[in-house]
Amino acid sequence: MTVQCSRRSLFRLGRSALATLGVAGWIDPLKAAAASSAPSPVDYYEKLGVEPIINAAGTYTDLTAAIMPPSVQAAVAEAAKRPVRLRDLQLAAGKYLADKLHCEGALVSAGAASALTLGTAACITVANGNEDGRIPQSIPQGMASMKNEVIMQKGHRYAYDHALYCCGVRIVEIETVDEYRAAFSEKTVLAHFFNAATSGQIGREDWIAIAHQHNVPCMNDAAADMPPISNLWNYTRMGFDLVTFSGGKGIRGPQNAGLLLGRSDLIAAAAKNNNSIDDVVGRGQKVAKEQIVGMVAAVDWLLTQTDAGMEAEFRARAQRIADAVKHIPTMTSQIYLPPVANHVPTLLLTYDQSKVAIAPKEVARTLRNSSPSIELHPATGGSQPDLPPTTNAIVVGVWMLEPGQDLIVGRRLRQVLSGAIRS
Ligand SMILES: *Cc1c(COP(=O)(O)O)cnc(C)c1O
Repeated sequence: MTVQCSRRSLFRLGRSALATLGVAGWIDPLKAAAASSAPSPVDYYEKLGVEPIINAAGTYTDLTAAIMPPSVQAAVAEAAKRPVRLRDLQLAAGKYLADKLHCEGALVSAGAASALTLGTAACITVANGNEDGRIPQSIPQGMASMKNEVIMQKGHRYAYDHALYCCGVRIVEIETVDEYRAAFSEKTVLAHFFNAATSGQIGREDWIAIAHQHNVPCMNDAAADMPPISNLWNYTRMGFDLVTFSGGKGIRGPQNAGLLLGRSDLIAAAAKNNNSIDDVVGRGQKVAKEQIVGMVAAVDWLLTQTDAGMEAEFRARAQRIADAVKHIPTMTSQIYLPPVANHVPTLLLTYDQSKVAIAPKEVARTLRNSSPSIELHPATGGSQPDLPPTTNAIVVGVWMLEPGQDLIVGRRLRQVLSGAIRS
């Protein structure tokens, strides 16, 4: 009776789906049920009253970083439809990525900050000789009695120190090569390097060579340092034992995904500190199947791109925006390429405020508070280490714009600046 009933309802579903789709002839009721149950998407931004923005800034976390390309969005949606064994997916994704990115091992983390934590935990695990397999369970609360020192250059200390600290390590700060050599002790687990640091006396190759003389692994945080695409393998090939990248920045994967790349024994040790294991530091940094697949799909997408192609596209966008404001009195434009992090053409617009009476920060506020809401680069009217001084400049990050948005940004800038011209 029950069986018959459900069969009948399935059949009914099949028929109603058939009618909706307007398809003639018989179709599999199970497939029809799936088709009829696929809802048209609800715009939850609208429902929640959260206004989408035009991102003329860059891959900022606060602006939800990148938009995934259509192929990545589709891969994420497809992965959401069926369960898998998480460990199988983690391992297979790691193997695939290691092959594509020319390194021994890879792990999809919950962003670059998580990759830093897992990389640090991996180095602690290996340095302390994980014979009984219980080292990960002692991070961070048992660190005082274990090897727990990480060496860093003073000029490389940064906000992401915290991603290392959460493993319970102590950071030993050095400046000169001599201090670096002297800093190694029997408690050293890692020599950590910040790839985009703008100060620090010791370069990458020396950093690696000296660490390896002491049999200590070194990690390089290159989170925001793609393009060039080849950076995804340049630093592991250079000899860094671990390298971290953000998945949601230039790679345009899910915002909560990242990459830990490097030595296979360290990647395996990182996995011992990662979810789905419950009593380890990585448990709260879960990457769901959708994001693991999205990260892999984003790397696949990126490897179909070229540095020259991306740069040409970004320059064209910057030029279109510059052209839109070129008739504003005293306006000068410059397309600037930051050296390491966010190494993409960035537009700087400067003008004489005695002729155009609006400060760059005021322009940014006006664009933010009008519709559509446009977010300019945060260096506008201020400064940032990677850019020339911009206290008097409007800065436009163009690489996260969607097609056609450069024209909207150009038009809005022209309107706001024209309105401020002194007669
Ligand atoms: C963005 C960034 C991170 C963090 O990356 P997430 O993927 O957001 O976790 C870490 N280090 C540096 C240098 C970064 O620029």
